[in-house]
Amino acid sequence: MAYDPANIFARILRGEAPCIKVCETEQSLAFMDVMPQTDGHVLVMPKEPAASIYDVSHAALAACMQTVKTVAAAVQAALQPDGLLIAQLNGEAAGQTVGHLHVHLIPRWSGVALRPHASAPADPAQLEALAQRIREALR
Ligand code: 5GP
Repeated sequence: MAYDPANIFARILRGEAPCIKVCETEQSLAFMDVMPQTDGHVLVMPKEPAASIYDVSHAALAACMQTVKTVAAAVQAALQPDGLLIAQLNGEAAGQTVGHLHVHLIPRWSGVALRPHASAPADPAQLEALAQRIREALR
């Protein structure tokens, strides 16, 4: 997948499109997925413009994964899921729909099914309330 600077996550990083931010570092951004597969579905991306695992630098990926670990602990503390699914998709055949590398953090509760991938937009107020709980756990 070639990198398209007009992709939605590049636009979010440039401040051209909105997002509900969870936390930001010099090299990464964590934000709520607008079509969450479960409540509390967070995305973490490096700021480096890389479409996939094949393109990203080791340094940018390492920084991104540090944020993944920090946010994972905050999601666990804030939402108390039974499990946490962490996924990263490369290429359309793997299900990737946005061509800027990102990592999914998807809380799982026993007996609660995943909603379909990238399908139904959530209520922005509900996303903001979940983000606020996760942000508080980051403090
Ligand atoms: P992928 O299929 O590329 O691994 O995942 C892309 C994710 O981005 C999906 O889970 C989808 O719901 C989410 N997504 C798509 N468009 C937007 C958007 O404009 N803002 C946010 N925050 N998430 C988005």
